[in-house]
Amino acid sequence: MPIATVNPATGETLKTFDELTPDGIERRIAAADAAFRDYRTTAFADRARLLDRAADLLEADQDDIARTMTTEMGKPLTAARAEAAKCVKAMRWYAANAERLLADEEPPEADVRDAGAAHARVRYRPLGPVLAVMPWNFPLWQVVRFAAPALMAGNVGLLKHASNVPGTALYLEDLFRRAGYPDGCFQTLLVGSRAVEGILRDDRVAAATLTGSEPAGRSVAAIAGDEIKKTVLELGGSDPYVVMPSADVGKAAEVAVTARVQNNGQSCIAAKRFIVHTDVFDAFRERFTAGMAALTVGDPMDESTDVGPLASEAGRDGLQELVDDAVRRGATVLCGGSRPDGLSRDLERGWFYEPTVLTGITPDMRIHQEETFGPVATLYRVADVDEAVRVANDTYFGLSSNVWTRDEEDVQRFVRDLEAGGVFVNGMTASHPALPFGGVKRSGYGRELSGHGIKEFCNATTVWQA
Ligand code: NDP
Repeated sequence: MPIATVNPATGETLKTFDELTPDGIERRIAAADAAFRDYRTTAFADRARLLDRAADLLEADQDDIARTMTTEMGKPLTAARAEAAKCVKAMRWYAANAERLLADEEPPEADVRDAGAAHARVRYRPLGPVLAVMPWNFPLWQVVRFAAPALMAGNVGLLKHASNVPGTALYLEDLFRRAGYPDGCFQTLLVGSRAVEGILRDDRVAAATLTGSEPAGRSVAAIAGDEIKKTVLELGGSDPYVVMPSADVGKAAEVAVTARVQNNGQSCIAAKRFIVHTDVFDAFRERFTAGMAALTVGDPMDESTDVGPLASEAGRDGLQELVDDAVRRGATVLCGGSRPDGLSRDLERGWFYEPTVLTGITPDMRIHQEETFGPVATLYRVADVDEAVRVANDTYFGLSSNVWTRDEEDVQRFVRDLEAGGVFVNGMTASHPALPFGGVKRSGYGRELSGHGIKEFCNATTVWQA
């Protein structure tokens, strides 16, 4: 894929970028290695000052960087501004909390004595330069979610961003530079995915984190495994959204629309499979379908737009293939199902897709297993809580899950049995700096955010003193 800014609303190529040469990559890895030697010894207070300054700069740049994101990947401008604000919050949260999260841990006295020590503790030390392979769907947030804790822990970052968001990638490098981080602490590598293996195999690169598709995750994890390097993977999701009879069905249907179409439907934690108890199925289907059909699809720069274009032509075509396959095998289209009509002439070549609801899904359909990365929802009718759990877990993925019920027994059942990294009750999945984020099964492993996230790229060092 060429490294370029292509506006998904119009299909127009706005700017192309040269890839870094092998020499350029070498210089940047050397700079990261050199920066780490000093930066790892800095005090938490100094790191916090830098990160707070970066947060202040980002807050001031919010409108400009939101426009860059919308231009590069098509999310509605209002959502892009909200993404920038979320990044500011996460930076400030880690600046304020990292020292507490990484404080030395002391085992109980009796255990220390039993280990034959006078003193024993765990010290969280940084690992070194971490390679971050990041996707385009939240081009600022995915990076900040890695960078804020990594930098607060004393690591340094090498960003290989998705090839379709180079403007945002370069902005991030510039942001950390302007905030005063020493040279080499955070660098963007403008490279395609073929360059990742060489970078990851370099002895100076300590670890890697990847957010993206399953094939990309598998490749990076295999190479890192071969090099015995730590990885965190945040891959796709096909999150269930279960609605039980005791739920507030109106609210569940209203939130379901947002949960499905946020970020033009291109979010790993978007609810994708709507699993509804038969007693409330008709009521939910009616309201949910009406809500999806009422959304405004159009220019993402227009503040009244709910759903912009998909980020790439391949993504839009892939989504259409999933819908066509389901329809061929007997699914019913309740709304949408194709590219929208009636867009203005300048948007005719954009990669838009109608908000779509499908029902009558059977296991032989690709859409039953594959991730729908766009505004397409599948609707399942279930008879009871057992079937709800079974259908919810009938996926290779296990990122997050949503359940709507006022019955505490149901809640406990779902919390016990849903195979996912999160269970959100009577609300939609959303990440927060203080809460761990990540999945099980083919959604990946490891956690981001919270104390769990910051410790992923630390050396938990046992300090034993006689
Ligand atoms: P990719 O996984 O291909 O891209 C994500 C990042 O990984 C990009 O930086 C990409 O670089 C890089 N990459 C891709 N292949 C490799 C590889 N073999 N080795 C190392 N790095 C690699 O996602 P796509 O953009 O192709 O989207 C495809 C699907 O992935 C989506 O439809 C969705 O299902 C899923 N996805 C999930 C995301 C999530 O948030 N969990 C985010 C994005 C996608 P480059 O851009 O240069 O190819």
